[in-house]
Amino acid sequence: MTDLIVIGGGLAGSEAAWQAAQQGLNVILYEMRPALSTGAHETDYLAELVCSNSLGSNQPDRASGVLKNELRRFGSMLLECAEVAALPAGSALAVDRELFSRTVTERIQNHPRINIIREEVTDIPSAMTVLASGPLTSPALSQKITELSGEEHLFFFDAIAPIISVETINMNIAFRASRYGRGDENEGDYINCPFTKIEYHNFIEALLQAERIELRSFEDSIRNGVMAGRFFEGCLPIEIMAERGKDSLAFGPMRPVGLIDPRTGKRPYAVVQLRQDNLAGNLYNLVGFQTNLKYPEQKRVLRLIPGLENAEFIRYGQMHRNTFIASPKLLKPTLQFHNRDDLFFAGQIIGVEGYMGNIATGLLAGVNAARLHKNQKPFDPPQTTMLGALCH
Ligand SMILES: Cc1cc2nc3c(=O)[nH]c(=O)nc-3n(C[C@H](O)[C@H](O)[C@H](O)COP(=O)(O)OP(=O)(O)OC[C@H]3O[C@@H](n4cnc5c(N)ncnc54)[C@H](O)[C@@H]3O)c2cc1C
Repeated sequence: MTDLIVIGGGLAGSEAAWQAAQQGLNVILYEMRPALSTGAHETDYLAELVCSNSLGSNQPDRASGVLKNELRRFGSMLLECAEVAALPAGSALAVDRELFSRTVTERIQNHPRINIIREEVTDIPSAMTVLASGPLTSPALSQKITELSGEEHLFFFDAIAPIISVETINMNIAFRASRYGRGDENEGDYINCPFTKIEYHNFIEALLQAERIELRSFEDSIRNGVMAGRFFEGCLPIEIMAERGKDSLAFGPMRPVGLIDPRTGKRPYAVVQLRQDNLAGNLYNLVGFQTNLKYPEQKRVLRLIPGLENAEFIRYGQMHRNTFIASPKLLKPTLQFHNRDDLFFAGQIIGVEGYMGNIATGLLAGVNAARLHKNQKPFDPPQTTMLGALCH
C-alpha cells in the first residue's frame, strides 16, 4: 500500500521521500528521467546538481551554514551524502557531483519503503503527494499545476547576462556614471561603455552574424499567457532584439539617455552599462545583455564593446526556463497547498533558491507528510530558524 507519492527525484523530492520513508511511510517516488529529460540534467541519477558543485558556505555564521546546521540536526540524508562526497573548497561545501548523486540514488534505491518509478507524471494525484518537480517541470504537469492554481502559476525564461571581472575593463574608455546623475555613489553606480555610431553598427552586424545555441525542444514548446512565441518579451536575448531593427538596442538596453561621456563631453550614440554583481565589487554584469550566443561567440562579439577589448568572462549569458508558483498566496508555511492539506510543494518550484534551500524544503515536506499521515499537526518551524524564515 502506498502512503505517499513524491513527484520528482531531484534535491527536494529525494530528501522528502527519504524523510517520509524513515518515518515508516511507504513511498512511491516518480522520476521522469532518463525517458524524458529536462534539458539541463545530464544523468539518470537522482539529486543531480545541474550547474555548480557548491552547496554554499559551511560557516556557522552564514545563512547557508546556519541552514546546514539545522538540517544536520534534522538528519538530512542529502547533506550526509554531500559530506561523504565533499571536496576541498575552503569554507564552502563543494562536492564531487557524480559521487554525491550516485550515493543519494543508491541509498534511495536500497530503502525498503521507497519504490522508484521512472515515469513522467502528467496529472496531480488525488492521494497524499509531495510535488517537487523543480524549475524544469515537464510541460504536461506544468499545465495541470496552472489549472490547480489558476492565474498564479507562471513560467518564464530565466535569462542570465554575462559577468566579467572588473579589473579587465579598460577605464580609459569606460566611465562611471548613473543615468541623469541619479544613484547612490557619488562617482556613479554604473560603468558605461560608450559607442560611436560606427562602432555601434559594427557591433550590431557582428551580433547578427554570430552563431547561436539552439533552443532545447522544451523551450521551443512553451506556450501560455505569459510567453509570446519562444521568448518572454520582457527579457529578449540581445540578438533577437537586434534582428527586429538595427537601432532596437540603441533605444533599449543600450540607450544613452542621461549619460555624458567625460572624454567627449557629449552623449554617446549608444552605451552598454555594467552593474556591480557582488559585494566585493570585483564582478560586474552587462545590464540587459541576456543572450543565447555560443560561448566563444559571446567572447568574440562582446569584446567589440569599447572598453571590453580584454574582458575576462567569469560567466557567460544563458537562458533557461523557470517554473514556479506564487507560494506566498498558495502555500501555508507547512508547505501544504492552501486548499488541500494532503498536497505539499517543495524545492525550487516554490521559489526557494539554491541547492540547500531545495533540500531543506524537501525535508520539511517529507516530515510533514509523515506527521499528517500519523494524524499529527504539521510542523511550522519558527521564523527565528533559517528553515522557518525560508518557509514564511
Ligand atoms: C540551469 C539551472 C542551473 C542552476 N544552477 C544552480 C546552481 O549552480 N546552484 C544552486 O544552488 N542552484 C542552481 N539552480 C537552482 C536550483 O537549486 C536547482 O534547480 C535545484 O536542482 C532545484 O531542486 P529541485 O529539487 O526543486 O528540482 P530538481 O533538482 O530539478 O528536481 C526535479 C526533478 O523532477 C523531475 N521531473 C520534472 N517533471 C516531472 C514530471 N512531470 N514527472 C516526473 N518527474 C519530473 C526532473 O527530471 C528532476 O529530476 C539551477 C537551476 C537551473 C534550472
